[in-house]
Amino acid sequence: MNSPRPFIVGVDGPAGAGKSTTCRRLAARLGFAMVDTGAIYRTVALAAQRGGIAFDDDVRLGALLPALQIGFEPPPPGAEGAGQRVRLGDEDVSQAIRTPPMSLGASAVSARPVVRAGLLELQRRLATAPGNRGAVLEGRDIGTVVFPDADAKFFLTASDEVRARRRFLELQTKGDPQPFEAVLADQRKRDRDDSSRDVAPLRAATDAVILDTGALSLDEVVERLAAEVESRLARRG
Ligand code: C5P
Repeated sequence: MNSPRPFIVGVDGPAGAGKSTTCRRLAARLGFAMVDTGAIYRTVALAAQRGGIAFDDDVRLGALLPALQIGFEPPPPGAEGAGQRVRLGDEDVSQAIRTPPMSLGASAVSARPVVRAGLLELQRRLATAPGNRGAVLEGRDIGTVVFPDADAKFFLTASDEVRARRRFLELQTKGDPQPFEAVLADQRKRDRDDSSRDVAPLRAATDAVILDTGALSLDEVVERLAAEVESRLARRG
């Protein structure tokens, strides 16, 4: 008998809604794989930048994609809180992709249909890899495009000031402080671009559970998602 497809959890929403930490904790709690699809778009932007490829050069982006070996690795022992590592070939690019220019770069390359189409297969393969009991995918279009038939879909959101404040504090903690106004402006630009692009714009799937994380603690958000997933898992049997 074929084993059932891994249980797919899609978590979408704008930047700073708390998706990353929530997904990391949710995946750890459920024993599921975690697929950070934003990290994949960021890695494409990094590779393009290094290759001198403009973020809107569809021909060269299309040629670049098949050559890229993007993958994830568990964090080293003792550094579990930092989340999984992102690899480009043999290189650990986890830090290099988390800069403000790569946030905007990821947003730019992700608006190109050639890039979105070229990354679909990778996202699906990572989520359904042999041995995965389930997977938590974090992104913008998981519930609408990557896995429209996901077993559970969530859309996390919060006001733009709340989200920018979180990002501002995160950059400070990482030793890369930026003025709050600049963080807010970058984020508004990304929100605008992500929501208005023609291909896979950011929006909640009609069957997604929508959660405003502004007034909730991280623990509360994780609890709500975990409770929903666990009840659906129990129903699936
Ligand atoms: O989630 P993160 O901030 O790392 O994503 C970086 C950018 O990649 C987003 O602003 C968005 O433009 C793009 N992205 C996307 N679709 C996804 C994940 C990320 O378009 N599934």
